[in-house]
This record gives sequence, C-alpha cells and structure tokens, in this order.
Amino acid sequence: MAGPASRAEGLARLDAFLPHAGRDYAARRNHDHGPQARGNVSMLSPWIRHRLVTEPEVVAAVLGRHAPSACAKFVQEVCWRTYWKGWFEQHPEAWSRYRAALGPLVDRLDRDAALAERYRQAVEGRTGIACFDAWAAELAGHGYLHNHARMWTASIWIFTLRLPWQLGADWFLRHLADADPASNTLSWRWVGGLQTRGKHYLARAANIAEYTDGRFDPRGELDEAAAPLPADAPFERQPLRLPSRPRPGVRAGLLMTVDDLHPESAFADMPGIEWVAAALPDAPDTVAALPEGDVARAFRAAAMADGAARWTAAAGMQVERIADPVAGLVDWARAHGLGQVVAPHACVGPLRPVLDALGPALDAHGIALVQWQRRWDAAGWPCAARGFFNFREHIGKLTADCEDMNLSA
Ligand SMILES: Cc1cc2nc3c(=O)[nH]c(=O)nc-3n(C[C@H](O)[C@H](O)[C@H](O)COP(=O)(O)OP(=O)(O)OC[C@H]3O[C@@H](n4cnc5c(N)ncnc54)[C@H](O)[C@@H]3O)c2cc1C
Repeated sequence: MAGPASRAEGLARLDAFLPHAGRDYAARRNHDHGPQARGNVSMLSPWIRHRLVTEPEVVAAVLGRHAPSACAKFVQEVCWRTYWKGWFEQHPEAWSRYRAALGPLVDRLDRDAALAERYRQAVEGRTGIACFDAWAAELAGHGYLHNHARMWTASIWIFTLRLPWQLGADWFLRHLADADPASNTLSWRWVGGLQTRGKHYLARAANIAEYTDGRFDPRGELDEAAAPLPADAPFERQPLRLPSRPRPGVRAGLLMTVDDLHPESAFADMPGIEWVAAALPDAPDTVAALPEGDVARAFRAAAMADGAARWTAAAGMQVERIADPVAGLVDWARAHGLGQVVAPHACVGPLRPVLDALGPALDAHGIALVQWQRRWDAAGWPCAARGFFNFREHIGKLTADCEDMNLSA
C-alpha cells in the first residue's frame, strides 16, 4: 500500500490525485472505504513526510489545478503538518516527556504479564472489536491508516482498551510509513484530551458505521462516555532555532537525513558552494522505541536510496553511508577536508540529539555544522505558537509563493 518510495512515484501519485484535490476531497475525505478503495484521499503522506515531494510543491500543483476556494480544505490539511511541526519545534518537551514516560512503560511490558497480554492483543488485532482489529492488521500490513481510522483507533486504544497512550503512539510509529514525531505525538495527545485541554476525541459506533459505509458497527463495544485523560503540566515555549546558510568558498559536504530527501531542489544550484562529498547516516533509523515493522523500514530504506541516487545525479558524487552518526561523520568530514557540513534542520525527535552532539564534535576540528531550513518552514513555523485556528489565518500568505518556498531559507 505504501508503494515505491521514490520521488518519481510521489510525483506520479500527486499528478493522479490532482483532479480529486478540490471539492471532491472536501466532500469525501472523511470516509474510510477500506484499503482497496482509497481514491478519496491522496495517500501522499509517506512521500511528504520524508520530503520526497515537498509541501510547497504539492500546494503549488493543487493551486495550479483548482481555484483556491475549491482546494482550501486540501491545502489546509497539508498545512496541518506544518502547524504540528512548528508547534513541536517550540515545545520540544512534548517529545522529551513522551519519550521519558515511554521508557518505563516499555520496561513494564517485560514485567507486567497482564499489561503485556493486553498490549499484544491490541497490536496483533485480537481484541474482538472488529473495526479495531481490522485497523491493527491494516497498519502492520500496509504501513498506512486513513486519518479517521487513526483517530478511532487511538481513541479506542485510550478510552475503551484503557492502554497507555504512549505505547499506542509508539505502536503507530513502528508501522506507519509516514511515521513522524510531531504529527503522531501531538495527534495522540489531541485524541486523549491533553493537547486541547479537556477536549478529547471519543470514537462513537454510529460515526464509525456512517464513515466506514457500514463495514463496521461496533455498537455497545466502545466506551463512549469516558472522561479526557488527566491534564499534564503545560510545556514551556522555546524560541525557534534560527537557520544557518552554507558559506561560499568553503569546501562543503552534504549530510542527508530522512527528514528531507530532496536536497537538489535547495542546493544543486546554490551559487558559490563547492560540494565535495555527501553522506547519509545509517542511524538513528527509526523514530519508534520498540522494533519497527517491515513496511515502514522498507519504505524508509528505499526513500534514502532514492534521495542518494538523485543527489549523485545532480551533484556528480557518491553518497557514502556512515554507520556511526557522530564519530563516523567526523572522520568522513576530515577525510574529505571539509570546512562545513550542511544538513537539513534536525526537527525535534530522535535525530536532534545526534546533530546536537555532531556540532561540537565537528567544531573541535574546525569544521562548521550548518543546519538549513526551507523557506516554507522558516515562514510557517513561527505562526504555530498557538492553536491551529490562529495558524489558519497565515495559510494564504504561506501558500502565495510556493515555488520560491521550496528553496532554502
Ligand atoms: C493518532 C494520529 C496519528 C497520526 N500520525 C501521523 C504520523 O505519524 N505521520 C503523519 O504524517 N501523519 C500522522 N497523522 C495525520 C494524518 O492522519 C495523516 O497525515 C493522513 O492521514 C495521511 O493520509 P493522506 O496522505 O491520505 O492524507 P490526505 O487526506 O490526502 O491529506 C493530504 C496531506 O495533508 C497532510 N495531512 C492530512 N491530515 C493531516 C493531519 N491531521 N496532520 C498532519 N498532516 C496531515 C499529509 O501530509 C497528507 O499527505 C496522524 C493522525 C492521527 C489522528
């Protein structure tokens, strides 16, 4: 279902979906007709999440085909990713606290047989709730779930099965081909009633029956009266990290990461930059704590290979795979006599501590670590400090000049 993880495939899918991205999408997007009938949504998220295709490219293509009013819903959905990322960047504790709570829960699975059995029943699709079990199987088998199914599955996990939300969020990250720390963590928090204080999302049997076209009807099986999860302490807002730019005339090495696998759009033609080497770290290769599923792993590996092949074609150099993302990259940079290593901005998530450690390690050898951003992120993230309602006001400005927004800030 996730399909070939290449930019060519992402662009082909975007092209095929374009006719449906207008009023069709707004009217039909909430229906989950099952894995064999997904024409009402784009299924582009694995490609966008890894930036095999980028948000401004998608928005530009859609605005090129439809009137802004007709495709407003689709554009708004694409911007949800930007909003979640921008909010996450400004509240990194949302990730660190989630991971801190997850560690002991994962350990508990080894010690608490009852919890481990309930967890296994859920992730193996053996709860007896037919819709949940079908979505559990779809998640593992396809690496994708429809947005509405993600909301229902997370809600049943939290409020009917009474499992810790952090284990559910990790379960999604293990299997989704679009596994993304910001969208996933904050969506699970939102379902639980933590993100929008006291406002939780309760899966209702009638709603599931309606939007699955009667494929499922879990009447009497769900807790439809559960209270939101108890509020947690608010997160302190942090200033956004500022982007930096490569310096002309200094030997430069490109460090590719899974967060942006389309560097040629930002860098291939950058004036004055002499690219002499490129690398892709082999780790950290997953955003989940527990072992990830085959579909997600295969998608990411193929996406990285595709990104590397495109950079080789654009810049005329091999992309070296580096096993140790700190010591190995320092050795690589020194071996090539680099003066600067240029990497996409490391978003909040498992990659950030790696680049935070790499910076000083390179600096000790007189090599600068440059973290760049796309203009899209640099323009969108500062608008995401508060709720999405407020962010929505900025979408028109953000999407006004999409081609330009693909470039580096
Ligand atoms: C509990 C839960 C967990 C989620 N985990 C992830 C995750 O790990 N990674 C991820 O990319 N998305 C996640 N989402 C958001 C959303 O479900 C998916 O992005 C969307 O379903 C992808 O399918 P699509 O490409 O067919 O979307 P479409 O409906 O075709 O939307 C077009 C594009 O808009 C973006 N988009 C749409 N809805 C959302 C949304 N709610 N939040 C952010 N971006 C959105 C995606 O890039 C998507 O490709 C999660 C949602 C929930 C409720």
